[in-house]
Amino acid sequence: MNLVFSSSSSPSVLLTKLTRTSHPRMLVPALLVQTYQTRRGQAIVSNSSSSKVIDHPPAAQRRLAQYHPTIWGPDLIDSFTTHYTYESHATRWEGLKQNVAKALVASSTKDDACSILKLIASVQRLGVAYHFRKEIHAALVSLISSTSTLSTTNDLHTAALQFQILRENGISVSSDLFNKFRSGEGSFKDSLSDVEGLLSLNEASHLGMPGEDVLEEAKIFSSKNLKQSMSTILNDDNLLKQVEQSLQTPVHWRMPRIEALNFIDIYQGDDSKNLALLELAKLDYNLVQSVYQIEIKELSRWWRELDFKSKASFSRDRLMENYLWSMGICHEPQFSECRIGLTKFVCILTVIDDMYDVYGFLDELECFTDAVIQWNMEAKEELPEYMKPIYIAMLEFGNELADNIFTNNGLNTLHYIQNEWVNLCTAYMVEARWFYGRFTPTLEEYLKNAWISVGGPGAMLHAYLLTQGSQLTKASLESYNHGSQLIYWASLMTRLSDDLGTSKAEGERGDVAKSIQCYMEEKGVSEEEAQDYIKGLISHSWKKMNQESAKPSIPKSIVNMCLNMARTAHCIFEHGDGIGNSIGVTKDRLISLIANPIPLR
Ligand SMILES: [Mg+2]
Repeated sequence: MNLVFSSSSSPSVLLTKLTRTSHPRMLVPALLVQTYQTRRGQAIVSNSSSSKVIDHPPAAQRRLAQYHPTIWGPDLIDSFTTHYTYESHATRWEGLKQNVAKALVASSTKDDACSILKLIASVQRLGVAYHFRKEIHAALVSLISSTSTLSTTNDLHTAALQFQILRENGISVSSDLFNKFRSGEGSFKDSLSDVEGLLSLNEASHLGMPGEDVLEEAKIFSSKNLKQSMSTILNDDNLLKQVEQSLQTPVHWRMPRIEALNFIDIYQGDDSKNLALLELAKLDYNLVQSVYQIEIKELSRWWRELDFKSKASFSRDRLMENYLWSMGICHEPQFSECRIGLTKFVCILTVIDDMYDVYGFLDELECFTDAVIQWNMEAKEELPEYMKPIYIAMLEFGNELADNIFTNNGLNTLHYIQNEWVNLCTAYMVEARWFYGRFTPTLEEYLKNAWISVGGPGAMLHAYLLTQGSQLTKASLESYNHGSQLIYWASLMTRLSDDLGTSKAEGERGDVAKSIQCYMEEKGVSEEEAQDYIKGLISHSWKKMNQESAKPSIPKSIVNMCLNMARTAHCIFEHGDGIGNSIGVTKDRLISLIANPIPLR
């Protein structure tokens, strides 16, 4: 339904007049309105309309997740400071950008594919490619039309690097080019022993799509040979480090800001480095960090005023960690509005998630879900006291976003925003019923719901609305829908990474079964086998994301947000629960990303 509003009425006011049934975009999974049964046969829930708030045991008897308090108090956040500002470093920064632009143009006119590819790869990994979109595109166009193309090169390193960079930049390239590196039997040639070539092959293999068997073979071949070759490069620290990192997490899966920091360190040790590029990378990193500091201080004031620390003390107080999500999804400095809005979305979502997962009773949660569907302030009257500020925060945040877009673009987006909250809370509700019914779904049943309950589709919609500015039109909202498959796979990937990192702790404190437990119970396998199966699903999801990313109908901005969400999930959960537990890797990363600049010399 396309709602057309007169300019005198804001969308949030008008939408409250719509009834639930008049809203065809509202996607309520069938499970919500079913009375369903456990595998043992007992009926466990009724539909939401029949529920009433009843007397419950005192708050002390509720389940609590016992999350530790935040380690990032408001005074600490207020103390962040840097002497890197765009004003004070403008001349140097502009000069360095010009130098790098010239280097890109100069190397693209030479007949040396490998050197331009290495330069582009470095610019990308150092996190400054957003300054050189035009130059990179021109260099790649000239490369594929020149004689030294990947179809003729016999150098594995060059061929693999070119394949990787073309795919990363959305330029079509066939994996058949790797056939020349295979023997008559179809396997990769044993003579391919150059470590740099194997490293590039391993990186390229992660850009594969479903059905590209040659890339699957490339992955197995390169990782096996890289492991064997490590003893031969012990005197080359830089190469050894890159091999170890690639075997752990390929570049394609890495969160861009963290990779920028990592690669600045590696590039420093590269004898063939471009000094202007290295200095630009460090300076730009510090300047972008100054933007992050301003944003997190503003968010800290908002979070303090919201006062969920006392009003929803059962939930995770994780402003800084939630900001990591936003920065991971959308890191470029011009997207402040997106990072601020997205962090607010994630903070409110986190409280609601904890309410459904742990603190709320089933009938209270039914009421909350019902109120979200109604989407108006009057609906809060039916809610238990502790839910009211949470409901108000969600409603005000959604309405304010829609009103801002309506004022700036004359476009009503409230039904999109509301839909995401309805879908999210409906999916949370399904999980709450499973928990209270002691029901373990099959993996398929679980994932059908869990890709929504992880918050991926909601985060992607907010990121999209908040990055488009004046480009946001009715037509662009339609093009957003072309990304639905990509959003699905990125959300699934986020869910699976989350489950791998957190399911043990969540299971221990009493939460619904996650993908690993569902698969263990369904198939009667060990935890290790289930984890391997989930890792296989993650690999498959990446291939599907690569396939969707290549579709020209999907705007590049959506592709980047989706890939970055999956990368951020990988980063946050690769060492356990990076949100629930603030100390350790997450803390170190936040210090490097937000608090500490890189020394320039
Ligand atoms: Mg949950």
